[in-house]
Amino acid sequence: MSLPSKCEYLIIGGGIHGLSTAWHLCKKLANKGQLKEDSVVVLEKTKVGEGATSVACGIVRNNYYQPAMRRLMAHSVNVWNENAEALTFRRVGYMQINSQLMHEGMSEVYHQQKEIGYDSTFIEGASDCDKYMKEMLPDWQAQGITSVLHEKNSGYGANLGANMGFKKLAESAGAKILEGVEATNLISSNGSGAVSAVETNQGTIECTQLVVAAGPWVRKFWEILELPNSVKIKQPDGSYTDEIPMWSYMALEEGELEVDPHSYKTAQGNEYPVIHVDTESTLVSNKSGDVIHENEMWGFYYKPDVYRNGIQGGSSPYDVTKPASEVSIDPYGHKSNEFQPRASFEDKFTSAMAFCQKQFDGCHAKYKKQKAGGIGCVTPDRFPVFDQYRENVYIIADANHGYKMAGVGDLVSDEVLGNKSDILEPFRFSRYEEGKLHPVSNSPFPWS
Ligand SMILES: Cc1cc2nc3c(=O)[nH]c(=O)nc-3n(C[C@H](O)[C@H](O)[C@H](O)COP(=O)(O)OP(=O)(O)OC[C@H]3O[C@@H](n4cnc5c(N)ncnc54)[C@H](O)[C@@H]3O)c2cc1C
Repeated sequence: MSLPSKCEYLIIGGGIHGLSTAWHLCKKLANKGQLKEDSVVVLEKTKVGEGATSVACGIVRNNYYQPAMRRLMAHSVNVWNENAEALTFRRVGYMQINSQLMHEGMSEVYHQQKEIGYDSTFIEGASDCDKYMKEMLPDWQAQGITSVLHEKNSGYGANLGANMGFKKLAESAGAKILEGVEATNLISSNGSGAVSAVETNQGTIECTQLVVAAGPWVRKFWEILELPNSVKIKQPDGSYTDEIPMWSYMALEEGELEVDPHSYKTAQGNEYPVIHVDTESTLVSNKSGDVIHENEMWGFYYKPDVYRNGIQGGSSPYDVTKPASEVSIDPYGHKSNEFQPRASFEDKFTSAMAFCQKQFDGCHAKYKKQKAGGIGCVTPDRFPVFDQYRENVYIIADANHGYKMAGVGDLVSDEVLGNKSDILEPFRFSRYEEGKLHPVSNSPFPWS
């Protein structure tokens, strides 16, 4: 497919957000009788399936301590469930399993999930938690657990499969997806700040509205638009913290066990839910007996994954300490030599599995030696920024929360069509200077 000379809505990035936006835009334009051949064009620099979406763990959940994130996720989880087959979603449930330090926050999450009608069960107290877990997974043995939040409509999907599912939905709704077309510059003309065209490696394309959905590559467009490299953040006492870098990177450590995922069933004969544990219990190496964590919070997650043909999971990410401008994003994900799970990850992951379930004693023997994980680009408070700049440029910067956000494209398409979304309002860039920050939880994960 060749590059058209102009289009109405031009989207940079063929990951979950670019394609979900394209899909929803096409549906809405068609409903109004306004969809034309080049109404919606997506530019993807390599191929669909080469970005963060296609290396994600694929977990879809509602559990967030921040009310605004929960509302956003409830909307997105509906999109997953309504399009489960096309998007490879498996509604196996999600269990957030916690020690005492997380109890109060998790109780708030549960009560607020009830208020927004998100289906979950909350178990409190060590013996009730143990009983609940053993009824489902008889060899459960994690100690120090005092609350369990069990979300029923959550689950996981295939990363590449979902990315391809979005591509198919967007194309069949009428979007033009151009692979191998890299946006290299944004052009403003007539003395206006608005972007009138995008230069690419295949020529120039004019547009009326631009949506930047470039995932970890977002900072390139931020720089071209001459947006600030750092922000000042208003503190609760009214003072400001200056010069907080706008972008930084986190590296996610993930891995897999070489086992048959179909052989893992609950006592009720169902697929395992996604299991996420946050605790300050001592974690001892299942291999050497050495202490891995003591007197500190740690967390990890796992799921038998039918798409990867194993058990897949990960632990809390580490910060990439280089300034964002010095981080090499390419080659990305599993192709990167720089950002791979550190040597300590294998022991932590397999020991944490043995900490949870007796059958995983000695499971390090089944750990797959392969490349995994990837980096994510995060904002100053590590929550998404969804906002419009320069009159006609919408930027989707999901701060690496985004595989689960299948519905962001729906809300963004509303916004570019002129209907502001209440759900997206708490994610504006102005929140830093206004001090309208999201509350922070006790979780060891930066995204809970
Ligand atoms: C290891 C890992 C595990 C994760 N696990 C989860 C999880 O379990 N659950 C969850 O909710 N989130 C998870 N995430 C986060 C999630 O994957 C991302 O937040 C989300 O996929 C970002 O989607 P995106 O569409 O913004 O970016 P991407 O999927 O990266 O898509 C952006 C696309 O833009 C293209 N592009 C970039 N620059 C240009 C250009 N100049 N011209 C044209 N195209 C361009 C890229 O090639 C890419 O295909 C994980 C992330 C990582 C790295």
